[in-house]
Amino acid sequence: MKKIVINKKFKIISVVVMLAVAILIVTLLCVNFKKDTSYNLSSYKMELSFNDEQKTLTGTEEVTFVNNYDNMFTYLYLHLYPNAFREGAKNRVVSSNDEDRAYPNNVSYGNITIKSVSYEGQDLTYAIEGEDENILKVDLPCQVYPEESITFSIEFEVKLANINHRLGYGNNTINLGNFYPIICVYESGTGFKTDLYHSNGDPFYSECANYDVTISYPSNFMLASSGNLISSAEENNITTSVMKENNIRDFCLVLSDIFQHSSVKVGNTVINYYGYTNDKNLEECLSIAEDALTTFNSMFGQYPYSQLSVVKANFLHGGMEYPNLVLISDDIAESDLAYVIVHEIAHQWWYGVVGNDEYSHAWMDEGLAEYSTLLFFKENENYNENFSTLIENATQSYKTFVRVYQTVTGEVDTSMNRPLNEFNTEPEYVQCTYTKGLLMFDTIREMVGGRKFIKALKKYYEDFAYKNASPAQMVASFIKSTGYDLEDFFASWLNGEVVIQ
Ligand SMILES: [Zn+2]
Repeated sequence: MKKIVINKKFKIISVVVMLAVAILIVTLLCVNFKKDTSYNLSSYKMELSFNDEQKTLTGTEEVTFVNNYDNMFTYLYLHLYPNAFREGAKNRVVSSNDEDRAYPNNVSYGNITIKSVSYEGQDLTYAIEGEDENILKVDLPCQVYPEESITFSIEFEVKLANINHRLGYGNNTINLGNFYPIICVYESGTGFKTDLYHSNGDPFYSECANYDVTISYPSNFMLASSGNLISSAEENNITTSVMKENNIRDFCLVLSDIFQHSSVKVGNTVINYYGYTNDKNLEECLSIAEDALTTFNSMFGQYPYSQLSVVKANFLHGGMEYPNLVLISDDIAESDLAYVIVHEIAHQWWYGVVGNDEYSHAWMDEGLAEYSTLLFFKENENYNENFSTLIENATQSYKTFVRVYQTVTGEVDTSMNRPLNEFNTEPEYVQCTYTKGLLMFDTIREMVGGRKFIKALKKYYEDFAYKNASPAQMVASFIKSTGYDLEDFFASWLNGEVVIQ
């Protein structure tokens, strides 16, 4: 080693020059992060590979975070939903009553492993955090100011549990819902919403983004997804499919080696129905979906995407909504098929296009999806479901729940606006969000009249398209559209004061 001796004055000049160079480099780096203003949504670009023997999904996700908030960010939080399926996870992914139906074999576990997080080939600092390894914290290499963006890559591997759930594999389908790290919604005043997975309801909350997804899988599988298929090529019995879709709040994929597929066009939208090979009711299911899309298009406003996939799948509950894709359980009774398909398609309006925090305010999308289903039957008499009877059944079901809970536990909490983890039981969650939700919207329709009610829903859909609405925004929107002061009305229903006779 050769030591260089320099005088003090030169030393000071050197330090000043070095500082100036450092500031210039940081400034240049930050300029690089500036957002292209023509592209104002965050995006996820994924390259995935599904291994059927291992039941793993490996891939790289290029996340472009566009700062559409008022804050500056130095780090981001992303949900790691697959870790809810870990052995020893804090919350069960299914309630104990549902375990027998959920696991086709024995109890099984899955997880997500983050292999690296990088920016332009350089590793970024990251940490697995949250109460239950449910959050990925990524330290950004630079401050990201409003309207700026930054792109970083995450390498990950998801191991699937053998479970009839949104994420997992059953005997017939491989369901890939909520499998990738997704940016947590940031609420000013609250910060990042990092709620834990819960077996009640759909514990998800996200912003709309653009998706570009490539997946490789064995060629004996057929693929359904939230995206528009751009290309598909086969080599050595491996198919590689590329899908894209803009302005959707999540992305789901389903694979099966026993799918058969049928489609129909409704306006600008192609509806794809994926059933199983020996299904006799393929056309019937497609026709229900066609009726639902047609009815809701005219009732609430046009569905804005060019495809909708209705997918039969191993799923322990009746159905599950994702943008442009709904799962319909393969073990529901034939008599429930129309109800479930219509409910899940209604979610394309209430959850898909108009989003809300499904963890904290599940009544917003579930209540509206349930009531939309009843309105569908009112409009489509050929389904032989009497609207008044459906309302009466819902009222009786809710009253029975209140009576039974009061008798058994001495008290009953009927407030609706609670986060998923604050419902004591699954029936309490279902009654307070779905049943009471539909009864609340029906009471509003009775008060303001059918025309004003539909006008209010149309306006709510138009004003909050591609956004997340808060309960206060929904209430304000209804008040403005109907001309009725519904503030106290909503409050008494939501806080549990109202008594349903
Ligand atoms: Zn629902």
